[in-house]
Amino acid sequence: SLKTPRRNANDAEPLLRFREAKKVLGEVYGELKENITELEGVYNGIQGDDIVAPPQREEIDAMKESVRTIMETFQRDNMKVVFFGRTSNGKSTTVNAMLHEKVLPQGMGHTTCCFLQVQGCDEDVGYLQLDDNPQRIDISMLGKMGHALSSDNSELPAMGQDSLLRVFHPKHSQESENRLLQNDVVILDSPGVDLSPEFDSWIDKHCLDADVFVLVSNAEATLTQAEKNFFHRVSKKLSKPNVFVLNNRWDASAAEMENIDEVKKQHMVRFRQFLVDELEVCNDREVNDRIFFVSSREILESRLKARGLAQKAYQMDGHATRALEFANFERHFEQCISKSAIHTKFEAHNRRAHEIIAKMRLNLNTVLTAAGSQRDKLQNELNESTRIFNECRVNFSQFEKAYREQTERLRAEVHLKVSAD
Ligand code: GDP
Repeated sequence: SLKTPRRNANDAEPLLRFREAKKVLGEVYGELKENITELEGVYNGIQGDDIVAPPQREEIDAMKESVRTIMETFQRDNMKVVFFGRTSNGKSTTVNAMLHEKVLPQGMGHTTCCFLQVQGCDEDVGYLQLDDNPQRIDISMLGKMGHALSSDNSELPAMGQDSLLRVFHPKHSQESENRLLQNDVVILDSPGVDLSPEFDSWIDKHCLDADVFVLVSNAEATLTQAEKNFFHRVSKKLSKPNVFVLNNRWDASAAEMENIDEVKKQHMVRFRQFLVDELEVCNDREVNDRIFFVSSREILESRLKARGLAQKAYQMDGHATRALEFANFERHFEQCISKSAIHTKFEAHNRRAHEIIAKMRLNLNTVLTAAGSQRDKLQNELNESTRIFNECRVNFSQFEKAYREQTERLRAEVHLKVSAD
């Protein structure tokens, strides 16, 4: 048939679907809140405990509270990606390339020694926050604080490897450039796996709510046991995590190796084996959309240049192919993260909405049943009163009749007596 494949609008902008889902859920919960308030109004109009008992009134309060909490929670929900790999494989460069901006410090000699979480903020100037401490730290401290040598610096708070430095970056500073931050994507850069890692606490503290993991590997080297171990731990704790592999620095490999296609094939075989057979996180078909050969440096520099933030961009032979590959990675990444976040985050809220509606129905039924039996009780009371009333009426008419007869008789007697006199 001549069917042209219809391009779904959702495919074009998968990141927008998350916000759309948030909006729809916001409307659902908004209506739910109105219904509960309405029911509360009706209950408040009914006096006493006979029809609306205290447990039913209290349940309405509890429902209002949970709706309020859920609405707050999902406003904060986001799509989370964790970047992972050895020091200097190019994690920070990759994050910056995806943000079209040098947000994270990068480069030789700079080692990220704690978790750095980049997220959007509405302010015009970015700022930092350490763990859950609400105190804002000047953005200029980023280089020092995230650095491996920060422990040498006594002015700075001591930070453990699994501590979190939140980097709040303005969402709206560059119109469309920070699409990721504008669409509630949160990016987590992890310390290098070669820095004697505490994987379990890393995962428990920072990765349980991750939607996607990106392993930034060095195309010139093979995967180390540390890198593998991390993902083994992750796939033990999370069911079927979404893992992408970026063979970064592919520009350098391409420049140095003659048998580049052979090397690429070998990498493919090894990563396929790792993702499909060892971790079992995807199947043979999916794996092709999970492994990419890229140069984050080229991408970052060309994006900076395009925005007028750099004079020239670093480009090696074959950069156009690598640029396509990077764009391809971003497309699959966006689809994957949006799907996962909608599924895991909103499914739960959706389930909660159903639970609350079921509770409301039960609550209302309890009240209606109480009202029904109250009505029956009143009906019985009314019937009883009517019976008594009727009885009284009968008694009264009998009395009236007797009285009348008696007075008649009396009057007659008096009359007789008077006549006799
Ligand atoms: P991280 O420790 O994993 O965050 O690594 P960085 O992002 O700090 O990168 C370490 C160094 O590698 C920096 O000097 C980058 O410019 C360089 N680098 C990163 N990606 C690439 C790449 O794709 N090609 C080349 N040639 N250099 C890269």
